[in-house]
Amino acid sequence: MTHLAWPPADMPLDVVDTPWLRDAGVQLAILRLDQLDPRVSGNKLFKLQHVLSQARKPGIRGLISLGGAHSNHLHALAAACQERGLQSVGLLRGEAQETATVADLQAMGMHLHWLGYGGYRQRHQPGFWQPWQQRYPGFLCVAEGGQDEQAAQDCRLLPAMALRQARAQGWARIDQLWVAVGTGTTLAGVLMGAWPGLEVVGCLAVPPSHLNQALLQGWLHKQGLSWRGEGLLDASRGGFARSDSLLLQSIIDFEDETGIALEPLYTGKMLLALRQRVERGGIPPGSRLVAVHSGGLQGRRSFVESGRLPAR
Ligand SMILES: *Cc1c(COP(=O)(O)O)cnc(C)c1O
Repeated sequence: MTHLAWPPADMPLDVVDTPWLRDAGVQLAILRLDQLDPRVSGNKLFKLQHVLSQARKPGIRGLISLGGAHSNHLHALAAACQERGLQSVGLLRGEAQETATVADLQAMGMHLHWLGYGGYRQRHQPGFWQPWQQRYPGFLCVAEGGQDEQAAQDCRLLPAMALRQARAQGWARIDQLWVAVGTGTTLAGVLMGAWPGLEVVGCLAVPPSHLNQALLQGWLHKQGLSWRGEGLLDASRGGFARSDSLLLQSIIDFEDETGIALEPLYTGKMLLALRQRVERGGIPPGSRLVAVHSGGLQGRRSFVESGRLPAR
């Protein structure tokens, strides 16, 4: 099977039009990383690049990583491994369950181990990986969510991609770049690639206390950048993977108005936070905003199955 070239081609930038943007005189465009690849979608292609290139070394047989039963990270990792003839192992949170994501992981040949909740909580303990490395010699261990300094560096291409595409649309500038934040790896890369005067807004999909801000600050510091959490916004709505009727309705409205699908964990929360800031008058009229669509639409399926979102 062939796989995507690196660095990838510039993705489309879709200017969207909604009543709340029009009322505020704000312009918004969506950088469609969700269209990169149906399987290794969104920011995950950028974030996995480094470890996939390491995996080309002789003697490396595959990758091991961690995640939940709907994990976009494990989904992309399993797909990338399958495409490259590598093996993959997934260590999952909780007890065995069947989800559309889990079915895909199995179909893509990932070996699954369910760690329970207690076992999963051990993941930050020193020595956590040791038994797995013994069991799977020649496998590279990838941190939960792909949190990694090199992965952040591969995300630094994003602001320039957004600016090239914005100029191609006739925009002379971008004022703000919005990005969803899980581990913050993508955000860190975007901050590395940003130019002075570009405001970067990071929409937290996890409660602020779950973000390892000191780690990201350290990565940025090494690049000569000082960052103390400027631009971070709590978009988590009380917890990772927590959804509510306001969030779901705002996703449905956005999808109806723009034709662009969102998922509730990251991009849906980002667009709701953006909409709320616009509606509060928090963005000056005439501003030009780009929001990164970081993909993850495979995770939308469980919301369709449970009737919380319509099929698209
Ligand atoms: C994984 C993911 C993120 C979070 O990326 P981080 O680099 O961990 O902050 C954002 N959006 C989507 C859709 C994702 O799947």
